[in-house]
Amino acid sequence: MTEKSDFVLVVNCGSSSLKFALWDPDQPDPCLSGLAENLGSKDAGLRFDCGGARTRADIAGADHAKAFAGLVAFLEGRGLLARIGAVGHRVVHGGERFTASVEVTADVLDDIESCGALAPLHNPANLMGIRAAREALPKARHVVVFDTAFHQTIPPAAYLYALPQRYRRDLGVRRYGFHGTSHRFVSMRAVDILDLDPADHGLVVVHLGNGASATAVRDGRSVDTSMGLTPTEGLIMGTRCGDVDVGAILHIARAEGLGLDAIDALVNRESGLLGLSELSNDCRTLEKASAAGHAGAREALEVFAHRVARTVGALAISLPRLDAVVFTGGIGENSASVRAAVISKLGLLGLELDEAVNRNLNGAAGLVSRSIVPAALVVPTDEERMIAIDTASIVMGRASTAYGCIEGSAR
Ligand code: AMP
Repeated sequence: MTEKSDFVLVVNCGSSSLKFALWDPDQPDPCLSGLAENLGSKDAGLRFDCGGARTRADIAGADHAKAFAGLVAFLEGRGLLARIGAVGHRVVHGGERFTASVEVTADVLDDIESCGALAPLHNPANLMGIRAAREALPKARHVVVFDTAFHQTIPPAAYLYALPQRYRRDLGVRRYGFHGTSHRFVSMRAVDILDLDPADHGLVVVHLGNGASATAVRDGRSVDTSMGLTPTEGLIMGTRCGDVDVGAILHIARAEGLGLDAIDALVNRESGLLGLSELSNDCRTLEKASAAGHAGAREALEVFAHRVARTVGALAISLPRLDAVVFTGGIGENSASVRAAVISKLGLLGLELDEAVNRNLNGAAGLVSRSIVPAALVVPTDEERMIAIDTASIVMGRASTAYGCIEGSAR
């Protein structure tokens, strides 16, 4: 008897990296995961994590296509290749064209390419990955899952910038929002955990990692979000400035004679926690330094928490009721002190921190407030699982309860 081809390979391609995970729909966790890094350079390497064992392959000088060839050879050697029925790809920008995940066709690839001007660093790399994967796995069906799609339900009052309308019409300049796969996964989990009505709830999800964004979710739909046309807007991030007076940037540019590339580097790579602390973009490093008396680290963390709380307050006005503030991402899941700082600023909205529970949560999902409505909740995100769920439901019509963790509708 031939085995079923119902495994899903999840692929996330960056400009010089390729992250992947292989899901067996009957298992709660991926059976294989791995990473190809430094693609296009002599340091290129490929790593597989399989059942607790780690294997490395030397692929010096490899590009994305060669990395896929290495992955295919590994899968074939373990009898897994024939089991793959579908591949789910992460794509950063879907513009206004994509409101949900879709199966890849020639038209879909053209449309992703035309959204490329909105995400010049990301979409071309994502496309390169899709093309290489289709060549390497021609029998599988391919699905794309967009970071922006979840936010396409945001109304014009929340997505328009007060710039001349022609920029919206001619250049697509408006708020799109990102981290949509994470916000969607985490908000569905929160509805489950808190036993809320899927058709009547209000959440603010704060995804705090190296990139950070917050989203107001009303009845399962994104109604406002902090990131904008690009992921630079909104919260303070590892190296991105988030919201800043455009006049301040003009002032700096004039004073220092900065060109566009230097401004790009300033707001995206030299600012945020790194710029404020003059030490590091990494929250753990800053927490240790702050405890040891580093004033810049302490200030950076204070500004970070203030911005999160201020944004939660602003987003809450798009909700009929605030049922919960939900923390996720590397910082949101793991930093009890950042959560405590944020929650203690949100007393006006009725949030009351449970200090002991918050301190001892250690990366698990759970309530960290004494207040029940609104609650403060931690939910570990899992974007790859969400991509696997979407892919399986589009290609194989599998119920969304596959992959272990989501009851109710995944789409
Ligand atoms: P992400 O981009 O979601 O992987 O998150 C990365 C951020 O999470 C970095 O700033 C890390 O320092 C932070 N992070 C991870 N673990 C912890 C921890 N245990 N305590 C504080 N911050 C953490």
